[in-house]
Formats: sequence, C-alpha cells, structure tokens
Amino acid sequence: MSLIVLAGPAGVGKGSIVKWILHNTDDFMLSVSATTRDPRPGEVDGVHYHFVTEESFRTLISQNQMLEWAQVHGRHLYGTPLSELSRAEAQNKHLLLEIDLQGARQVRKKMPQALMIFINPPSFEELERRLRSRGTETEEQIQTRLSTARTELAAAGEFDYQLTNLDLEACAREVVELVHRAERGS
Ligand code: 5GP
Repeated sequence: MSLIVLAGPAGVGKGSIVKWILHNTDDFMLSVSATTRDPRPGEVDGVHYHFVTEESFRTLISQNQMLEWAQVHGRHLYGTPLSELSRAEAQNKHLLLEIDLQGARQVRKKMPQALMIFINPPSFEELERRLRSRGTETEEQIQTRLSTARTELAAAGEFDYQLTNLDLEACAREVVELVHRAERGS
C-alpha cells in the first residue's frame, strides 16, 4: 500500500483525475477528507467528504485523529482523518490524498515515504477558465482561489513529481504509472 499526495491548485482537475483512476483501476482508493464547508449539489456525505461541524473537526484535531489538516482558501477547515490510512491498509489499496499545499507539507514531514505529485495546469489562464466554467463559486471565491493558486504553483518544485494536466486521461495514467513504478522500486 502506498500513500500518494495529489496536490495542485483548485480547478486543475485533481478531482477528475482521481475519478478516472478509481474508475479504471482496482488497486487505488480515495481518502475521504473531513471538511467544515457545506456540501455542493450532488456531493454525498461519507463519499466525497465527511461534512462536519467546526466543533467536531476541532475534536478530531485535539484527539490526534488527523494525519494533517489546514484552513483552505482562508475559510473552511479540511483534513485527512488517520482512520483513512487503516482503511486503505485493510483493503490493501493505494491511498490517494487530494489535499492542499499546507496539508501536503505536513504529510511529507510525517510520512516521508509518501509519493508527492503536483498537478500543473497548462497555463494560469486555462486554470482561471476551468475554475469559472465549474460555476459553483462566487466571484469572490474565485478570486480567493486564484490567489491561493498562485502560491501553490510557486511551490510545485517541492514535490517528487510534477505533471501537467493537458489531457485528463493521459495525466491520470501517468499518476498510476508513477505509483506502480515506485511500488516496483524502479
Ligand atoms: P473544495 O472545497 O473545492 O472541495 O476543495 C478545496 C481545496 O481543499 C482543494 O484544493 C483540496 O485539495 C483541499 N482539500 C480537500 N481535502 C483536504 C484535506 O483533507 N486536507 C487538506 N489540507 N486540504 C484538502
């Protein structure tokens, strides 16, 4: 079982990459994060996120039940419950963590064996276009996400591997290949 951190700015397509991998392989699973933000239409509690109150989130932190956590986009709390690691171990699957830069840095410190992958957009303009076409955020939220994106893109060099999401399927296949190669130790 490997731990894979998939980072990259909001709108870069991490969610679609994860979806492709889950759909087309049988040895990966997604870590279900806890978050204090509200569900978007179509999001299911326990599947996309564990939607929790800030109080429950803080309890998880104080009981040391979080592998990492962060306040993302200056607003809501997001974190990876440690129980996700045991869930992956029990199922003997590679665990994909789709998390932000602050969380990625915490994972690298705590679990140096984690495979750290950064997904780049083809360009900043394309990222902005994708973020807007999602239609789920207000203009203010988009501006915050773009500003976070600039910070995240500047940190891409901290990762073991950088991929560019020019084509969803090709990028997802590259992630799978990197993990399988690391598993074989080649
Ligand atoms: P969204 O609200 O669009 O689902 O996610 C916003 C951001 O939160 C994304 O960039 C995502 O990578 C990050 N995120 C989601 N789950 C976690 C988590 O468990 N920990 C951290 N640190 N960031 C997360």
